[in-house]
Amino acid sequence: AKRTAKSSVQFYSTALREASQKRMEMEASLRHAIEQGHFELYLQPILELESGQITKAEALIRWRLEDGSLVAPDDFIPLAEQTGLIVPLGKWVINRAGEMLKTIIQHKPSLKVSVNLSPRQFSDKNLVSFLKSVVDHCGIPAQNLELELTEGVLIDNFDKVQQLLNDVRKMGISVSIDDFGTGYSSLAYLQKLPIDHLKIDRSFVRDLDTNDSDRAIVLAVIAMAHSLKLGVIAEGVENRQQRQFLLDNQCDTAQGYLFSKPVPFDDFCQQLIVESSQ
Ligand code: C2E
Ligand code: CA
Ligand code: CA
Ligand code: CA
Repeated sequence: AKRTAKSSVQFYSTALREASQKRMEMEASLRHAIEQGHFELYLQPILELESGQITKAEALIRWRLEDGSLVAPDDFIPLAEQTGLIVPLGKWVINRAGEMLKTIIQHKPSLKVSVNLSPRQFSDKNLVSFLKSVVDHCGIPAQNLELELTEGVLIDNFDKVQQLLNDVRKMGISVSIDDFGTGYSSLAYLQKLPIDHLKIDRSFVRDLDTNDSDRAIVLAVIAMAHSLKLGVIAEGVENRQQRQFLLDNQCDTAQGYLFSKPVPFDDFCQQLIVESSQ
């Protein structure tokens, strides 16, 4: 028994060492990728349900490896957050989104691009001045830029968050609460903070056709958002039944594979051109 215990301790310490080794290697290659700019910013259209028009696009990052394959953000954003690398990476994202907007607004002046901000970026004290510098440098209206924040950002240090959001809003940038309904935050903040939209998390949309409680949640979020004068975006719309349910129940906008997957910038511009010729 003694030997077994000892060898299992050895086993675990070896496994741990390997895990931390792997993490360090991953951190080093992420750092290298940031220095070399091995990232691409994809855009996923967001459509107004009633008109079917593209009104916005969500910017979603991808990491392009040397062999040409793509790494999904869920596989490196958490590490980027833990290590603080999300701050330079997030700056790259905002810059790139600004450059894209510069071109996009020539096709469609009203189109917005929304950018995901992780908690670490949001607590960076240079965020507002950085946003200002990007807007100035790209020569785009701040109104075309939107930030997506998760509920997690909102619960720590309410006063600071309120001040930051006020500053962002004063610039003209709008704010969405992402993955709404999956966090633990109180609903009181919705009333107190300057927020423009709620994004209903994909997990509530997925089984809309069959799950009564998901329907109830989606209806409640739409009703609450509208009574607080907030817009509503449904994520992860994959079929026409989901689209119809959302349309019938006054959801404003939606995004999902039914309309388009996230695509490279050129493909997105192509979609805008096709839309404007219809
Ligand atoms: P998110 O902000 O909730 O983004 C939506 C995710 O849902 C995207 O995954 C998108 O590709 C996916 N999606 C959209 N429509 C559908 C659909 O109809 N069905 C299904 N199954 N999925 C759909 P993606 O691009 O892999 O991004 C995952 C997460 O990574 C994002 O979740 C966001 O939290 C994070 N992320 C992505 N880009 C950035 C970034 O630039 N900065 C930061 N901080 N986080 C990012
Ligand atoms: Ca998002
Ligand atoms: Ca989301
Ligand atoms: Ca999500």
